Amino acid sequence: MAVEAVEKLGDIEDNLEELSAAEGEDVFDLYYRHADVDVAAHEKRRRDALLAPEVAATCEAILSGDYGLVPKRRAKIISDWVTQARAETDEIIDLKNEIQKIVIETKPTLDGEEIPRHVKKEILLKERDRDRRRRAFDAEGKLREELAARGRRLYRLRNEAARALGYDDYPTLALAPEDLTVAELKSIFEKYERETGGKYRELVAEGIERFKLGRLEPWDLNYVVEQLCSADDKYFPKEAALPSLAEVVKNLGRDVASMDIQIRDDADIPFGGLCFAIRIPDDIRILLNLKDGMSDLRVLYHEFGHAVHRKFTTSKNFALKTGDAGFFAEAMADTWALLVDRREWLRAFTKMNEGEIARVTDASEKAFAARVRRFIAIQSFEVDAYVDAEGDLAAALDSYAERFLGFRYDDAGRWSEQYFPLLYPMYSKNYALARVIQRAVHRHMEGEFGEPLGEPKAFEYLVDRFYADGALHTWREKLAAVGAAL
Ligand SMILES: [Zn+2]
Repeated sequence: MAVEAVEKLGDIEDNLEELSAAEGEDVFDLYYRHADVDVAAHEKRRRDALLAPEVAATCEAILSGDYGLVPKRRAKIISDWVTQARAETDEIIDLKNEIQKIVIETKPTLDGEEIPRHVKKEILLKERDRDRRRRAFDAEGKLREELAARGRRLYRLRNEAARALGYDDYPTLALAPEDLTVAELKSIFEKYERETGGKYRELVAEGIERFKLGRLEPWDLNYVVEQLCSADDKYFPKEAALPSLAEVVKNLGRDVASMDIQIRDDADIPFGGLCFAIRIPDDIRILLNLKDGMSDLRVLYHEFGHAVHRKFTTSKNFALKTGDAGFFAEAMADTWALLVDRREWLRAFTKMNEGEIARVTDASEKAFAARVRRFIAIQSFEVDAYVDAEGDLAAALDSYAERFLGFRYDDAGRWSEQYFPLLYPMYSKNYALARVIQRAVHRHMEGEFGEPLGEPKAFEYLVDRFYADGALHTWREKLAAVGAAL
């Protein structure tokens, strides 16, 4: 009987892995070849597979029976997936995919002309003309019109689905598999609000003075961070990006080529990069839209971090290969992204002088403060949006912008162009928490090995502590093992 349930669990995982591989192939084609793909159909197939009655029954039998740590952990992960799947109605899946299409197809309009979204982003980072930045910031009028009613509806539907399952609200349901509550998340946010407050205020004061802003407006923030905290693009030519990564890996005692991670840097995608773990560990692909500059370089290292995380897992069970908390997976990727902010990396791979290197490394805590606070603000807004979808969402967004970022939008439509929470619910927090964990992992490596770059033991450490056993241990256990917590 005992063996039977574990065997059944294995079959369930194999089936889910097949579905995931098929979806991964299709989504890869969607982004790389701009193929016409029915993503909603994949999402429904996955959901239906999870909702087959034998899945919950098998998990329950194992969780309540006399089984070892490994089957119990696998059953716990899958039963959490089942709970999430119960909240995914056809209506929700279809609406989300409709919104995804709208986001891809609707271009921002600047001075009467349509521009790609990455051009808008570039203007907000680099345009010296403040009024042009303001106009770029206001370029999503069309998207707002399309998303205002759909956004409220999706927030409401998700919340209703969660309540129908007995949860207080959608955020509570979504956080449960990550072993977090809404109250706990809020107190984690408060902690990082306190810890980043000084650096953030310093950054804003410097920006106001240097660029004679009078006061910080929403269209100034990215510009101020970029100008005060980043090095010039000329130090980071895109041709040097992949060779630098190969050398970093070589100095860590490994060989990129033999890892067989497919990297395509000619992708025309709306993001800097994407990592597809189609079959773990054998088929892992990275798509990049690589350009000159430090931020694109960080994207390459981040996606590579996702890839090695999955490549070096020795777990054979699908639940353990992919079942870790979203923010923990992002933290594993961000641990690699942070390598390029290290003094040693900048010395080895750029022509920056020591003064310039010191300026950039000193500014990194300010950039960290701004990034973390931005993700916390949007995540806090999202939590409120589920709880009161028909309420005053503009006021909710403004209250968090004011608290964490120090400005208000004073704009009734601003909330409706926030498409990220609609497409990736309760995910914004992952980028804030990942950056906190990323720093803890680097500190721990420094304590163990000194400079991790060039130290093969650092790579072994990442594999042993974090990659190899996949999601067998929870994020709490893994962080505790390196003396860290959230
Ligand atoms: Zn990522």
